[in-house]
Amino acid sequence: MSTNVKAFGTEAADADLQPMNIDRRDVTPQDVEIEILYCGVCHSDLHTARNDWGGSKYPSVPGHEIVGRVTKVGSEVTKFKAGDLAAVGCMVDSCKTCDNCKQDLEQFCLNGFTGTYNGKDRHSGGHTFGGYSEKVVVDQHFVLKVPENLDLAAVAPILCAGITTWSPLRHWKVKEGSKVAVIGLGGLGHMALKLAHALGAEVTLFSRSAGKTEEAKSLGADNVIISTDAGQMNSVRGKFDLIIDTVPYVHDLNPYIQTLHTSGTLVLVGFLGNLEPMLNTAPLILGRKSIAGSLIGGIAETQELLDFCGQHNIVSEIELIKMQDINQAYERMLKSDVRYRFVIDMQSLKN
Ligand code: NAP
Ligand code: ZN
Repeated sequence: MSTNVKAFGTEAADADLQPMNIDRRDVTPQDVEIEILYCGVCHSDLHTARNDWGGSKYPSVPGHEIVGRVTKVGSEVTKFKAGDLAAVGCMVDSCKTCDNCKQDLEQFCLNGFTGTYNGKDRHSGGHTFGGYSEKVVVDQHFVLKVPENLDLAAVAPILCAGITTWSPLRHWKVKEGSKVAVIGLGGLGHMALKLAHALGAEVTLFSRSAGKTEEAKSLGADNVIISTDAGQMNSVRGKFDLIIDTVPYVHDLNPYIQTLHTSGTLVLVGFLGNLEPMLNTAPLILGRKSIAGSLIGGIAETQELLDFCGQHNIVSEIELIKMQDINQAYERMLKSDVRYRFVIDMQSLKN
């Protein structure tokens, strides 16, 4: 049993997104049905719609920064009731029984987590459809509570851009006085600045774009380094405990490794694939430096972040768009022309 709802998606990697209809299952005992109010636009949406990573399934309906209101709950749901605010991030399911799931690391589910879009749907057997739609039906374990005091549209990006940068900040134990750098000031990067600053770190932004300096400072950066300027890069040699690298495309890591302190870590969250040019291991060995990766965050950690944002009044800087503007928004994202996250007002899908 299912309900047909309006959505926006694409039929092929080289086609624009357009209106379409998709089915949402009727609530099972553990499910929450949510009317979607806002959905953030992540660079991963674009990678998936255009099959940049291979493996995209069509039709593809992206969107994994979802904020909405509960319209219906299943008979065994205890966490939510109709009328509550609710949010969904990058995952809608996992096996819930493996060692990682039991440790609140559902993103590393040993049997594969179910992505909010382009995932293998554990209910229907088909693939999942994301938040560029009127409604979504999700297992209560994967539904988050939203602080009542925050602007709802600006909360949406916390569900992916926020948690993807929060998780490494927490894993590498960033605290008062830690020296943190962020590479790339986009959706993920601007949340990283805000969150690292709120944890008391001294924060530096590496950017290619000189025009972002003043805004970066207002977002929480103490210092901005233009990454193409060798003199500026030299001025921060050996400085950082942690670097969060959000750049989506292949880029040279060697100049950044020099800016790590002894035992420091550069954590990649953006680019998936083979590094070019080659990486020189000498600075890693001589300074016990690490290169690591990190994927979103677990459900408990995402709730921790939402609560932290509620307490510290942290939301994303957004540009609210209509669903019909999504293709232009993707083109602007490719030019780094977004300050700093597009969020879709899902009311526009009803018109
Ligand atoms: P975004 O808003 O487009 O921001 C990316 C920023 O990187 C840009 O604003 C730009 O900053 C910089 N940049 C872009 N192209 C570059 C290039 N060729 N060389 C150097 N710098 C470049 O993207 P986003 O939504 O933050 O996502 C960033 C990446 O993270 C995407 O690949 C996305 O798929 C991935 N992601 C990963 C996870 C995870 O769990 N690991 C979760 C969500 C997203 P400047 O102008 O400041 O240089
Ligand atoms: Zn995302």
